[in-house]
Amino acid sequence: QELMARGLPKRAPLPGVTDIVVVASGKGGVGKSTVAVNLAVSLANMGKRVGLLDADIFGPSIPLMMNIHEEPLVDEQNFMIPPVNYGVKCLSMGLLAKQNDAIIWRGPLVMSAVQRLLKGAVWAPIDILIVDTPPGTGDVHLSLAQNVPISGVLLVSTPQKAALEVTLRGAQMYRKLGVPIVGLAENMGHAICGNCQSRMEIFKNVTNIFTKQIDIKVLASIPLDGNITEGCDNGIPSVIKYADTAYAKSYRQLGETL
Ligand code: ADP
Repeated sequence: QELMARGLPKRAPLPGVTDIVVVASGKGGVGKSTVAVNLAVSLANMGKRVGLLDADIFGPSIPLMMNIHEEPLVDEQNFMIPPVNYGVKCLSMGLLAKQNDAIIWRGPLVMSAVQRLLKGAVWAPIDILIVDTPPGTGDVHLSLAQNVPISGVLLVSTPQKAALEVTLRGAQMYRKLGVPIVGLAENMGHAICGNCQSRMEIFKNVTNIFTKQIDIKVLASIPLDGNITEGCDNGIPSVIKYADTAYAKSYRQLGETL
């Protein structure tokens, strides 16, 4: 509240990082990390220099999805060197917290961990840093907004009222802080039949009702597809293994809109 009233402090850009895009959702399990990973890998395949920061302290999934498990090395100045896979530089709370399983993530600790991941690592030179965040709009989100200039926020939601409502409410917080919302990636709202290729709606889709109310663009509609789950579980993003699919194209198009 206070921050919104005062406005954000002046934030210096991260040296050598052109854009920072935050991926956010109101609820967990809607596919935020899946979108972040497939988007990051698509951008790298399109020739961009990409970083992926997993700031989801409570449920880091980037190590699994990107098949990166080693603790990052540090250089002479004690800066972390993000390991690279699929052309994407990655850092995750999951790689750092390994020896500190028992840490209770209280506010100030969260803030300092996010700062270290952002500013204590050799990200440069990259064109875009994608930041996967925990669900909701808590300490991590505030810490990010306070510490670095965010180019835009990409929202991810399934097309259900329960998920959309909290996601779009969270988006208002960013708007109040003057951070632009790029748009919404709708996830798992439909499936494509493997036999006849027809489109099946999973839910009674209510996305447009909500996005219109607060003027947010729907940038992509990613289907529910077992191959996407398989890609996450096996650490081979589906946009690599199934590069010719319509959804791989959707991820690429999403990348082009950023
Ligand atoms: P969040 O980051 O929002 O908590 P995840 O990205 O971890 O969600 O996704 C939750 C689960 O749903 C994972 O098992 C993931 O593989 C699966 N999933 C996400 N998007 C899709 C999709 N489009 N099709 C099939 N499974 C998906």
